[in-house]
Amino acid sequence: TGIDRTRNFCIIAHIDHGKSTLADRLLDLTDAVPERERMEQILDSMDIERERGITIKAQAVRLVYRREENGDGGEAEYMLNLIDTPGHVDFSYEVSRAIAACEGALLVVDASQGIQAQTLANLYLAMEQDLEIIPVLNKIDLPVADVEAVTEELVELLGVDESEILKISAKTGQGVPEVLDAVVDRVPAPESAVEQTRGLVFDSHYDAYRGVISLVRLFDGELAKGDRVQAMGSEEEFEVLEVGCYSPKPTALPKLGVGEVGYIIAGLKDIEALRVGDTVTKVEDPAESVLPGYAKVLPTVYSGIYPTVGDDFERLRDALQKLQLNDASLFFEPENSRMGFGFRCGFLGLLHMEIIQERLEREFDLDLIASSPSVKYEVVLQGGETVEVTNPSDLPEVFEEIREPMVRATVICPKEYVGQVMGLCHEKRGVSVGMEYISTKRVQLTYDLPLGEIITDFFDALKSRTRGYASYDYDPKGYVASDLVKVEILVSGDPVDALSFIVHRDKAYYRGRAMVEKLKELIPRQQFEVPVQASIGKRIIARETVRAYRKDVIAKCYGGDITRKKKLLEQQKAGKKRMKQVGNVEIPQEAFLAAIRI
Ligand code: GDP
Ligand code: MG
Repeated sequence: TGIDRTRNFCIIAHIDHGKSTLADRLLDLTDAVPERERMEQILDSMDIERERGITIKAQAVRLVYRREENGDGGEAEYMLNLIDTPGHVDFSYEVSRAIAACEGALLVVDASQGIQAQTLANLYLAMEQDLEIIPVLNKIDLPVADVEAVTEELVELLGVDESEILKISAKTGQGVPEVLDAVVDRVPAPESAVEQTRGLVFDSHYDAYRGVISLVRLFDGELAKGDRVQAMGSEEEFEVLEVGCYSPKPTALPKLGVGEVGYIIAGLKDIEALRVGDTVTKVEDPAESVLPGYAKVLPTVYSGIYPTVGDDFERLRDALQKLQLNDASLFFEPENSRMGFGFRCGFLGLLHMEIIQERLEREFDLDLIASSPSVKYEVVLQGGETVEVTNPSDLPEVFEEIREPMVRATVICPKEYVGQVMGLCHEKRGVSVGMEYISTKRVQLTYDLPLGEIITDFFDALKSRTRGYASYDYDPKGYVASDLVKVEILVSGDPVDALSFIVHRDKAYYRGRAMVEKLKELIPRQQFEVPVQASIGKRIIARETVRAYRKDVIAKCYGGDITRKKKLLEQQKAGKKRMKQVGNVEIPQEAFLAAIRI
């Protein structure tokens, strides 16, 4: 197969609209996986992905599709490179990478849900890169599917003819063969601009046995085993030890040809040597210019991560380093506070933070506590110097100005919920930018909002106030000055860094009050009274007391039933997990997350 018979495409969709299921069906239809080895969501390879049902890493699989052509019984063979993308907002940067490696995109929309916020966000990314968009209406087997209404939404949104919209059930397989034909017929074949080799690195991961494995899209020229190549950005040179593709098992190939997608291995130990977004070329006959790359993604949420056992610090460092090899968006640096020795970590969002914490605990057997999450503030000091603050306890007592990060958010909801959504955005200090109908029934609202207000419970609140019918997405929108203050939390009279937070002055009293009330519930009774206070500067704004407990847990059992005793002790032990000793008080993990759940 040559470049004319190559098609590179991705599947983009709002979460749960059926990307992974459609990918499974495409694999089945092209016999990529022997029947006995088939399982659901084959591309979601990590355990956590499978359990949580989300796709984190983009994956590239090569499918071979044969079909009869020209009606003369002759078969044509096509090479289809399918790039699966994640659907969650936290990982939208991976979508843009996948898109840059393709000529076309299947835009999957759930026929029972209609167009949602990430449908639009992903569509816009694909349109910016001039991808051919193939609209696919999925889940038409569902009794609640409203095929007509959602078809209308797509016609309106894309300006396409109804006949161009594929109607399928990824679950039953209905209509899926037509998807393959549409990919072949509508997605343009790759085109090459120059003779010299140029490959875009669109994903990289670290493998303990083979070193860095990078996914590349070859825009120009070829790459073969034994070639000496250069990463044009990092200027590193190395020898290609292996090239290949995933079909879906990794399969070594003699070379990657022009227009193809595959992996390269060069035995590198450092993922930074071959960064995502970099261009590879041959040392012998180098290309003159690099391919358009991507901006490095920046964390939006920061948190301190501490081992509950002090001497696990080095093990935690080691684990973070290992995870970072596969996740360049993870940021960390050592941090020392009253919590002991830990790391300040940067994440793409709260989901990313939860996943990292879960992986650290599960894969590296660590017991951790994460401090109250925060966004990154810009603080202008009195001397005029500007510093970045990601740990609320680092906010100086006096400063000239503090600026907070803003986002432009898009919310899509049925029109009867517009009032609810506007109310919520207003509570979150949002400023309305616009509102338009995307169909007769549904509305798109645009707001500028402080990031710090929405990383917390915005999504949950939005879902509950619209009975799950709203979706949202956002893009960074720079920094603006704001009247923010630091609320410190004192436990037994001592400030606990990991519990303090930065908040707008108008909300400080309410949030401080709510926080100490919550902490009173969450901090288990100790043998002594524990006062919990919130303060701004030196002024105490709220106080509660965790009263001392009187009885031993077991005392209640009067030494009688031994199984009951055991159970209580076990419960007590389980409750102990995820506690952090701060001063003389034990504080549970939920307490550190309380600030964001208020
Ligand atoms: P993704 O988040 O876009 O990858 O979505 P998944 O492929 O994981 O699908 C989300 C859920 O929808 C899963 O429970 C699938 O079984 C289900 N699903 C996907 N396609 C169909 C379909 O055509 N019909 C029905 N009834 N369910 C589907
Ligand atoms: Mg998926």
